[in-house]
Amino acid sequence: MADYDVVVVGAGLGGLACASRLSRLGHSVGVIDKHAVVGGYASHFTREGFRFDVSLHGIGSLNEGSEFRAILEACGVMHRIKPISKAYPYSVYTDRQVQDIPQDAIAYQNLLCELYPSEVMGIRKLFGALERFKMELSFLYADDIPEWKKGLLFPIKCPLLLKWSRRTTEQVCKEYVSSVDLISFFTVQWPYYGLPPHRLSALYFFIPWVGYHMDGCYYLQGGGQSLSDGFADSIRESGGSITLKKAVKQILHEGRRVRGVELKDGSFISADWVVSNASPSVTMRDLIKVEGISIKVDQYVAKLGQMEVGTSILQLFLGLDCSPENIGFDRQDLHVWENRDHLQDYRLIQSGDYAHTNLLFTNYSMLDGANTPGGKGIMVITCLDEISNWPDRGIAYKQKKKDITDLLLNRAERFFPDIRQHVVVAELATPRTMERYTGNSKGAVYGYAQTVKQSGIGRLGSVTPFQNLSLVGAWTRPGGGYQGAIISGFLEANRIHRKIQARN
Ligand SMILES: Cc1cc2nc3c(=O)[nH]c(=O)nc-3n(C[C@H](O)[C@H](O)[C@H](O)COP(=O)(O)OP(=O)(O)OC[C@H]3O[C@@H](n4cnc5c(N)ncnc54)[C@H](O)[C@@H]3O)c2cc1C
Repeated sequence: MADYDVVVVGAGLGGLACASRLSRLGHSVGVIDKHAVVGGYASHFTREGFRFDVSLHGIGSLNEGSEFRAILEACGVMHRIKPISKAYPYSVYTDRQVQDIPQDAIAYQNLLCELYPSEVMGIRKLFGALERFKMELSFLYADDIPEWKKGLLFPIKCPLLLKWSRRTTEQVCKEYVSSVDLISFFTVQWPYYGLPPHRLSALYFFIPWVGYHMDGCYYLQGGGQSLSDGFADSIRESGGSITLKKAVKQILHEGRRVRGVELKDGSFISADWVVSNASPSVTMRDLIKVEGISIKVDQYVAKLGQMEVGTSILQLFLGLDCSPENIGFDRQDLHVWENRDHLQDYRLIQSGDYAHTNLLFTNYSMLDGANTPGGKGIMVITCLDEISNWPDRGIAYKQKKKDITDLLLNRAERFFPDIRQHVVVAELATPRTMERYTGNSKGAVYGYAQTVKQSGIGRLGSVTPFQNLSLVGAWTRPGGGYQGAIISGFLEANRIHRKIQARN
């Protein structure tokens, strides 16, 4: 008899969602993570009394009645978290003034019509299409329609989904409006999805867009960690176990059937099924010995090697001795939209030109007052980044961290002149930090690049050539972000449940 029905390697959101759903369906589940807290990127860390949220800016689709909320309920998590609605999912600094972007789609549409009067017709058509797009998504998510029927009706019921799955974000925008400036403004949020509009799959821009502007955009009280803790509590409540500070060394198997895992401390855990939340290349390259098993396995590993890995991120976490409002930062998330050419901005990111890339400022004290009691403040400066911009950890790396911290503070001074005198803690997290803490290849934050080719049905699935080894998380279908990772884990749990039931 195995120790567990299912062992989950990694307590990122994908692993946690899979484990919580399975344990609530009655399976015995063990989750193992090498880190000291659950959540992977969805976690926090503390420096000198400041508790920094690693990742969460916004999570969409949490309004009452939404399909995503139903998933969190089925995982036993919804009643454990406290969503805080964001009236403005983000704001944009442009031409020396700040434009707040409303959550409400109609208000947003009206704002765009006001700013770009010559494009009113196109804007209205685009928003009309987005309404239809949302209805198509509801059809796809509906749990009272059998899967075979959805497959049959998909081309008739979901024409936009079908069409946009083959388009980039920019191509879809251009079907409705022609102003380059309007498209740049409308897609200023692209760094949240890791690729500029000319390469980003339309699905990966517009699905979260609908989530933010039609199904409710939220921060969470207690930050991303509160969601991860909610999953962990749900797993423990239904009898599952979570082991932290233990790395999985290898996934054990006989031929193409996995048997369990070996931990770095030399102990073994047997299981009928293994779910890996580690990146697919780490799973197949480092955790499992794949040589000589079968041609199918070789082909799968070769395919992984050819896939494009997504971008990483740079974050300067700042603890202040006052609230960010005191230094003039009175928004929650502020995109500095100085470089309006997103393609050029992406090239600056790729070459590590931190002096000129667009930046995002986040006021965590304003997102959740409980983040910083005692009159202090937390803000974070963010831009996308690539691991190749950073030397290996050592003296040169440390020096570069200091230089870039200084450069980012200089840039922040342009907007908040007094910022330096209020900084108590400044901690720079680079793509190497992201890789070291989560094990994600190249410190990728959304898994594989969310291109048209690697999105939708083109995205890597959860099924591997090993009979009872699954992959979950941002690298797999449907994709990156809190929602994507959670949905991947949830859907895979349902599939594993069906398989185990059919076997017994
Ligand atoms: C700075 C930043 C900002 C972001 N902002 C947002 C946002 O506002 N909204 C949003 O929706 N998304 C955001 N994201 C993206 C989102 O956080 C991620 O896409 C998502 O959390 C990834 O989840 P995952 O399931 O892939 O697991 P990961 O978070 O990648 O976790 C993987 C886990 O596996 C563990 N692991 C790996 N190997 C082993 C091993 N051998 N043994 C044991 N454990 C192992 C790791 O320790 C880790 O805990 C952001 C990400 C970052 C970094």
